[in-house]
Amino acid sequence: MKVLLLGSGAREHALARSLAADPDVEKLTALPGNPGIAAVARCLPGDPADPTAVTELARSLGVDLVVVGPEAPLVAGVADALAAAGIACFGPTAAAARLEGSKAFAKEVMAAAGVPTAAAHVCTDLDQVRAALDVTGAPYVVKEDGLAAGKGVVVTDDRDAALEHAAACLSGEGGQVVVEDYLDGPEVSLFCLADGSTVVPLAPAQDFKRVGDGDEGPNTGGMGAYTPLSWAPAGLVEEVVATVAQPTVEEMARRGTPFTGVLYVGLALCAEGPRVVEFNARFGDPETQSVLARLRTPLAGVLMAAAQGRLAELAPLRWSEQSSVTVVVAADGYPASPRTGDEITGLEEAEAVEGVHVLQAGTREVDGRLVSSGGRVLSVVALGDDLVAARERAYAAADRLHLAGSHARTDIALAAAEGRVHVPSRPAPD
Ligand code: AMP
Repeated sequence: MKVLLLGSGAREHALARSLAADPDVEKLTALPGNPGIAAVARCLPGDPADPTAVTELARSLGVDLVVVGPEAPLVAGVADALAAAGIACFGPTAAAARLEGSKAFAKEVMAAAGVPTAAAHVCTDLDQVRAALDVTGAPYVVKEDGLAAGKGVVVTDDRDAALEHAAACLSGEGGQVVVEDYLDGPEVSLFCLADGSTVVPLAPAQDFKRVGDGDEGPNTGGMGAYTPLSWAPAGLVEEVVATVAQPTVEEMARRGTPFTGVLYVGLALCAEGPRVVEFNARFGDPETQSVLARLRTPLAGVLMAAAQGRLAELAPLRWSEQSSVTVVVAADGYPASPRTGDEITGLEEAEAVEGVHVLQAGTREVDGRLVSSGGRVLSVVALGDDLVAARERAYAAADRLHLAGSHARTDIALAAAEGRVHVPSRPAPD
């Protein structure tokens, strides 16, 4: 199989690593990739969100499968262009990717499919926002309607801050903002592979969106993740597939816009049961780094089955029993204004820690040196027999990395390792 991978982050490095390890993959190309990906794939320069350029490249390389990492190519219609050219693509069409591209659209689909989520108000002016904040009460949840790389959401007890964020969102393109009920409970990310009709869940994970320990500070693209979730209620995955993923995939098919790719279901486990916080139309970063580290089934065949509508024929996925912890090393100033151009050293030393691999995101090579080129620079991924062991390895490796001014959270998977994550108990049935 010849595979073309689109994207350049640590999520794509994780995908590249798994694809390259699949014995059925004879050639792996990345557009544009990064210096880490270059160790396992041929990296070509270019814009992965240009549908014509991607299709031409895929055709000239004779690829059997295109795997789309980030959201931008999906929203730009790369999957549509590939479908028109008869090239298999793992990733939804632009119409299906609206589940991520518009929170208002996602809410409408969830309502139609009967999917449990927070009650929401779609507002187009500040008077509507004020009225909605009166209804929901504090904590206030205000979300920009369009794509914002996980940074368009404000959760606050401060009504003025909520209004300020709403005003900023309304002044932007689209001019819509979503105000919704606060969902109280631990969060879970469940990646559900979909081929338009069949759903195959991956292992559930938890990620850490705030920049600082103890969930302090602003939201980021994600500072760490772990899997499995020892504290999750039995049957959680089956329940989420039955009440969320399957009805959503069926509703999208009913609308004539079938969903192929990863339906990323972000959930809060509330007292009333799992509630959807968000949908994304692609793998999540950094959860993917942790989840793929445990997947034992060769990846390319799985993604190809999804792209070709054959998920129903797939044998059950095989998983390592080990736990996996990912710690993101971020640049000085991230998320507000990351500093770039600092030298990165210690990768080999970090990977010498047993069970550890280091994935690259915001990196580039300058005169043979590796330097930072983005906010989230590296993902340190560690496997261990339990979360305690995986955490120890991840942090031992992170300590061996050197990047001036960098920061990482020190509490990734800590509460779970110490048995301190609790799902609010469900009310007894009447
Ligand atoms: P989103 O971009 O929708 O994923 O939101 C980013 C983060 O904001 C989520 O991972 C949650 O931590 C938080 N968040 C979003 N919606 C809610 C909600 N309704 N209640 C509580 N927290 C939320």
